[in-house]
Amino acid sequence: MKIIVCIKQVPDTNEVKIDQDKGTLIREGVPSIINPEDKNGIEAAVKLKEDFGGEVIVVSMGPPQAKVALKEALAMGADEAILLSDRAFAGSDTWATAYTISQAIKEIGDYDLIFCGRQAIDGDTAQVGPQIAENLNLNQLTYVSNIELEDDKVKARRELEQGYSELETKLPVLVTVLESINKPRYASIKGIVNAHSKQEIKVWTTDDFEVDLDKLGLDASPTQVHETFVPKHEKKGEMLEGSYEDIVDNLIKKLRSENVV
Ligand SMILES: Cc1cc2nc3c(=O)[nH]c(=O)nc-3n(C[C@H](O)[C@H](O)[C@H](O)COP(=O)(O)OP(=O)(O)OC[C@H]3O[C@@H](n4cnc5c(N)ncnc54)[C@H](O)[C@@H]3O)c2cc1C
Repeated sequence: MKIIVCIKQVPDTNEVKIDQDKGTLIREGVPSIINPEDKNGIEAAVKLKEDFGGEVIVVSMGPPQAKVALKEALAMGADEAILLSDRAFAGSDTWATAYTISQAIKEIGDYDLIFCGRQAIDGDTAQVGPQIAENLNLNQLTYVSNIELEDDKVKARRELEQGYSELETKLPVLVTVLESINKPRYASIKGIVNAHSKQEIKVWTTDDFEVDLDKLGLDASPTQVHETFVPKHEKKGEMLEGSYEDIVDNLIKKLRSENVV
């Protein structure tokens, strides 16, 4: 079984810095991690490989520093890592990102399962996984919190706002996973040593897989960012003082005056 996991390196910070001119995140100088739900995707893939055999290939599109994330994925048990990195990819929105990753997946070929995180903690759109499935004309299972494999069938539990549904489909399929699906393992010492001494990261540029140059990067991205800003916290807290009775009376008056009760 060939399992592909799409992983994104994201800034490990809640203090998002924004390039006001380009409307993009400033990533330089900010510590980075593997997007948390992508780690769940790696764990799900490695566990399936352990149970059923096969190989796990991790793919990331990003700058050269994303190699760190791919090394970590190798140390967790992935067999192969591919970094899609080329200046032509810079400034891609979700549409161009999904196009580029889909083309790379076509080049890898013969896949049975593709895992993505439900969403990335910096972009938060949850669009890339479903867009890849559309580009590859694949069935997709999203918001998945449990997955079971039976021959060529996948059974999944899909979380909904007020409950869950159980779905079944045939391989190949793209699955976007939630954090609740599993607990990602820590890389073993052997895994870390192998990842750093034996396993190479392949770097693919536009020369290494078939891409339409007109569909890459900022110019090909249909998303228009009109404004980006860090939200200001302007609401102030107010301490009510006095006896319990005074505080409760005062609170009710304030809630009434704001039409809350
Ligand atoms: C105009 C514009 C310019 C932008 N320029 C840049 C830029 O120069 N550099 C940049 O990094 N971002 C850039 N972005 C942000 C970029 O579009 C998103 O980070 C990217 O498309 C993923 O979207 P998301 O973070 O919402 O991921 P989601 O859709 O929330 O991610 C879902 C899942 O898709 C997979 N995934 C997402 N992105 C990747 C990836 N890159 N590699 C592998 N798997 C992935 C992961 O499994 C992830 O969990 C730009 C956005 C806009 C609108």
